[in-house]
Parts: sequence; C-alpha cells; structure tokens
Amino acid sequence: SKIIIAIDGYSSCGKSSTAKVVAAHLGYGYIDTGAMYRAVSLYFHQHYVSLTNPKEIQHALQQIQISFQFNPEKRLNETYLNGLCVEDEIRKMYISQMVSEVSAVVDVRRAMVAQQQRMGKHKGVVMDGRDIGTVVFPSAELKIFMTADPIIRAERRQAELLEKGELISFDEILENLRSRDYIDTHRSEGPLRQADDAIVLDNSFLTFDEQVELILNWADT
Ligand code: C5P
Repeated sequence: SKIIIAIDGYSSCGKSSTAKVVAAHLGYGYIDTGAMYRAVSLYFHQHYVSLTNPKEIQHALQQIQISFQFNPEKRLNETYLNGLCVEDEIRKMYISQMVSEVSAVVDVRRAMVAQQQRMGKHKGVVMDGRDIGTVVFPSAELKIFMTADPIIRAERRQAELLEKGELISFDEILENLRSRDYIDTHRSEGPLRQADDAIVLDNSFLTFDEQVELILNWADT
C-alpha cells in the first residue's frame, strides 16, 4: 500500500531532484515544500509585507494561494502563486536570501504545514523540506535525513544557478547556505532537525543514481 516518504535536510543537498525521481519511479506525487516558502517570500517581497507586523502577515497569508501544476512540455511540476507560474522567479538568489527569515515566522509555518498535511493525506507522496518527518508527517513510513559536505553543496548549487543564467560567486552561495542552515536549525517553530526514526543519508560521495536506488530499496521494505 501507499506510504509517505519524508525527505528532510540541509539546503542544497539535492533533496528535490532526488525526491522527484523517487516519486516518478513509484508513481507517487511529489511535493516541494521549500517552493511553498519561496512563493510566500515572493509575495511578501512584492507586497512589502513587514516581518515584524503580525497583522500584515496574517492578512497577506489570507491572500496567498499556492499550487503545483504539471507542465507536460518540461515534464515537471511548476509552482503557482495566485494563478501565476512563479517557478523561475522563486529560485532566484534574492528569494534564497530572504526565505529562511520568512519561513521562521510562526504564522507562515502554521499555514504552510496545514496545507501540506491536506496535500499528503491520501499518502503516495514524496515530500521534501525541513520539518516533514518531525512536524508535517511525524508518522511517515519512511523518513530520510539528507546531508552533504557544505563545499560540495555550494558547488552543486553554483552549477545549478549558472545553468539558469545567474552567475553568483562561490563565497556568496556558501554564505547563503550556511546562513539558511543556521536560521533553519535555530528557529523556535519546526526547526530543522533529524527525526529520531529517520535514516541519515550523506550523499557527498554518492552518485545521483546510487542515492535514488538506496531510497527505492528502503521504500520497498
Ligand atoms: O528546499 P529549499 O531550499 O527550496 O527551501 C527554501 C527555504 O525554505 C529553506 O532554506 C527553509 O528556510 C525553508 N523551508 C522550511 N521548511 C520546509 C521547507 C523549506 O522552513 N519544510
């Protein structure tokens, strides 16, 4: 029967690329919860929402509709904010620079977690994020905590951004990963941490295929 696979871990460990392929193999849905926090960040940016004003945040959250739609040409899911495709915009560096502060806001987390729980309630999903195995689906049948050497993560991230035409220095990317990891692990609500029953997967020296294979084997047992 169908299960929930929760993949949590540090920034740029390759969670989402792995999760996508695992989901496709299993015929499961894939939910990128980081994209949801990125979409909220984009909305806050566009509407000058102040992170120190709870009323403004509450009001903004009521205006935000996030969904995923399959793009048959690209053969992947794309993130929509209030009916507009924001997939490219939310991956940009200025969003990466604000997203951890936005996602540390308690009301933002509560709204996103509630939506994620609705999205996964029929199981048969692979969900990646920071708090899936601890907060969103503490009873997920398979929990993976992904990690990799920060230098290797920054190199991968730089290549990814370059592919999209964003030329960002290695130091800036490394600094962004470190600061996001710091904020993510130190916030009061749903901090990034390894669930007690999660399997740790350090992929620093694994190929992509080896890693997918490992997860598929764990999902099978
Ligand atoms: O996964 P991604 O790197 O796109 O996530 C962007 C940011 O969103 C993370 O650095 C983290 O601050 C936040 N996030 C979160 N909880 C999740 C997923 C992402 O706080 N479940």
